[in-house]
Amino acid sequence: MKNRKLVMIPGPTPVARSTQNEMGRETTAFGDPLFVRDFKGLIEDLKVMMNTDGEVFVVAGTGTMAMEMAVANVTKRGDNILLVSHGFFGDRFIDLCQRKGLNVDVLASEWGKAVPVEEIDRKLSEKSYAAVTVTHVDTATGVCAPVAEIGEMMRKHPETIYIVDGVCASAAEPEDMAGMGIDVLLTGSQKAFGVSPGLAIVWAGKKALERRKQLGTIPEFYIDFEKWLPIMENPAKYFATPAVNLIWALKDAVRIINEEGLKERQDRHRKVAKATQAAMEALGFRILAEEGYRAVTLSNLIYPEGVDDLEFRNTLSEEGVFVAGGLGAYAGRMFRLGHMGNIDMHDSVSAIAAIERTLYRLGKHSELGKGVGVFMKEMMG
Ligand SMILES: *Cc1c(COP(=O)(O)O)cnc(C)c1O
Repeated sequence: MKNRKLVMIPGPTPVARSTQNEMGRETTAFGDPLFVRDFKGLIEDLKVMMNTDGEVFVVAGTGTMAMEMAVANVTKRGDNILLVSHGFFGDRFIDLCQRKGLNVDVLASEWGKAVPVEEIDRKLSEKSYAAVTVTHVDTATGVCAPVAEIGEMMRKHPETIYIVDGVCASAAEPEDMAGMGIDVLLTGSQKAFGVSPGLAIVWAGKKALERRKQLGTIPEFYIDFEKWLPIMENPAKYFATPAVNLIWALKDAVRIINEEGLKERQDRHRKVAKATQAAMEALGFRILAEEGYRAVTLSNLIYPEGVDDLEFRNTLSEEGVFVAGGLGAYAGRMFRLGHMGNIDMHDSVSAIAAIERTLYRLGKHSELGKGVGVFMKEMMG
């Protein structure tokens, strides 16, 4: 019998059966009072989850659209924007912002390292920036930005809107908008929330909503906060059709998150990440992200000497586990193992065991059980 496929990529992540069932429900009218009640409850839960003093926008689209929505609503053509980049997804803001006619400055780190907070502070002190973007976890490098520390520093620059891309972090890494001074936080449904792709979620604090008002009419239509505000306040109203079944699915995912407890969920992610990374190091992999800045949602693992990327990932796929390849300069030298959202102990042990079988089949590993042993000891310790 063939192994079941285990998807361990940094999104889409495994979707719980109950969440899948929500997508299989008969689609109703968006004005159906029962749906309106569900949507309203979801909006309230999401605002509480990230502790915002403003609004959350749940709109059909992906994480990339959420990035665009964040920038479009707090900047105008000719404004300065500072992009802090720890990899491919931080860099994604460059083209996005240049197309909007923004003056773009980039602070980029070497892959695997983080930009020092003092450097961001220095840059923000040089001229007036309308906004700064920080990718909480850059999926290309597995670097987790110190968003709380940056938020603390941002208090010295109240004219600048602090945007955090949480696509690979939200619901797994700690994020507290009011507490950390985050003005706009964005994510997509298919990463740590554990929902199928298709929803963009953007939280905007009071300061960001005020900035949007000051801008007057903006060129964007579908992603304009002002168009969606009346709907988020009263989902019985219409602007553009809500993704009814995905909204139900997200509501179920939020129920799962709240049942586990947000704090407990963050702790679980931290523990699983630490144990997984220890296991992978014991098997000879190197972790790209420097210590102190490692994400809890995924691991970016550089191959031991002599392991061929395609051979490794193809064999691993035969063993039943899908992982993602490296990006940029690390294509062919690294693979990316997602461990966020609904990944449980069974999944982690199986994935590490499959990695061991793969290395064994490639003639690169003989001590079967070593990685699994390290993982379990870390988890039980
Ligand atoms: C996946 C990802 C995105 C892009 O999200 P899409 O849903 O693929 O558009 C943006 N930023 C980060 C950090 C991501 O991990």
